[in-house]
Amino acid sequence: MNNCIFCKIVSHEIPSDIVLEDEKFLIFKDIRPKAQIHLLIIPKKHLGPVNILTAEDKEVVGEMILKARGIAEKIGVSQSGYRLIFNVGKDAGMEVDHLHLHLLAGKSMPF
Ligand code: AMP
Repeated sequence: MNNCIFCKIVSHEIPSDIVLEDEKFLIFKDIRPKAQIHLLIIPKKHLGPVNILTAEDKEVVGEMILKARGIAEKIGVSQSGYRLIFNVGKDAGMEVDHLHLHLLAGKSMPF
């Protein structure tokens, strides 16, 4: 999608610190981390935020959560704990309208 910063990250048009990439998803480090570990899990295909998802998107959303669980296991925070967040809309501080799941981990995670 034109002018979507996350689409540009997917196409490697702008650089990012990629942790995992496969056919359907990209996981990269948030540029302004809110916790010791702050990753973003995104589908490569542009989808809008949660409030405009449809039933057709449910498989992708389910896969995103499983991807998040998988990366949590890989980086060793499964036991210590982590937080998964979808921000929706301006009161939640949502900045980017390409669907993304935040994974926060490490000490002093914000609520
Ligand atoms: P949200 O506030 O839920 O829309 O989250 C968007 C997140 O994307 C924020 O935490 C930003 O710090 C992060 N972000 C924005 N631009 C970039 C970028 N170029 N590389 C990595 N993270 C980014």
